[in-house]
Amino acid sequence: MTTIRTVAIIGAGQMGAGIAQTVAAGGYTVRLYDASSERPPLAQAAIAATLARQVEREITAQAEADAIMGRISIAADLAQVGASDLIIEAAVEDEAVKKAIFSELTPYLAPQTLLASNTSSISITRLAAATDRPERFIGLHFMKPAPVMKLVEIIRGIATSADTYAIAVAFAESLGKTTTNAEDFPAFIVNRILVPMINEAIYTLYEGVGNVASIDTALKLGANHPMGPLELADFMGLDVVLAIMNVLYDGLADSKYRPCPLLVKYVEAGWLGKKSGRGFYDYAGDTPVPTR
Ligand code: NAD
Repeated sequence: MTTIRTVAIIGAGQMGAGIAQTVAAGGYTVRLYDASSERPPLAQAAIAATLARQVEREITAQAEADAIMGRISIAADLAQVGASDLIIEAAVEDEAVKKAIFSELTPYLAPQTLLASNTSSISITRLAAATDRPERFIGLHFMKPAPVMKLVEIIRGIATSADTYAIAVAFAESLGKTTTNAEDFPAFIVNRILVPMINEAIYTLYEGVGNVASIDTALKLGANHPMGPLELADFMGLDVVLAIMNVLYDGLADSKYRPCPLLVKYVEAGWLGKKSGRGFYDYAGDTPVPTR
């Protein structure tokens, strides 16, 4: 069995940064790579800012925060991460991009390297087929924000070995997470249920049944959801929500999964939610303001 000590994260966006922090806090050595060289330093700065807030609130000791930061370094290319014990891919939710990353990575891999994808919806079996080791490939689906959310959804592809599954569960548990096992069908469990609900909330807005504030208030107070569905969509990223709906629509061939045209329009406009400053809310000021 592979012993995991070094973990590479490919993609240093919202999820890559959160996973890097979580994994480094678990005592592992982390290498961060992104196709855009600006992203890893931004991710490091975001992690440092989060840890500084925790130190201020006395949740984390300064020495521990320093140790976590000290375990996260930046890799300039894929060749530098290939020998890691575990590689977690957290790049954009686009099957072609993910497959290209895995096939580019394959020549650099060490024999013991395990591969994982943080995909929200894409087939683990198909991604694994782009590598030389489908038996050592698994879905490790962290939730956002990764350092806070307790669940890691674990998805086996058709070829994933029992050893790989056991190592993945032990790894997630070593980070203090609880795991759940989902079969390899479009969007697995969490997003198969959650994202169509968000899409329905967008239809409710699109059809004028309610405005942004009334829809979010209705679900927060009427169904006891901690965040309204439109607030949650902005938090996840509207491009990510749309990509997941498209995987469900294409993969299950059922019209009930068609993405709401308003969601498509927002993504086309570059209104991707919190990360771009505008989505169903405008994030320019201190308090988010509903845009409809
Ligand atoms: P994001 O847009 O914040 O980050 C994506 C990153 O991928 C960017 O930094 C981009 O530069 C990088 N990238 C693009 N092409 C690349 C390539 N060829 N090689 C390396 N890096 C590349 O997106 P995100 O929200 O962090 O999502 C990343 C993954 O995590 C997706 O698969 C998504 O489905 C999944 N996920 C997202 C959420 C969420 O709520 N946003 C939750 C769980 C899982």
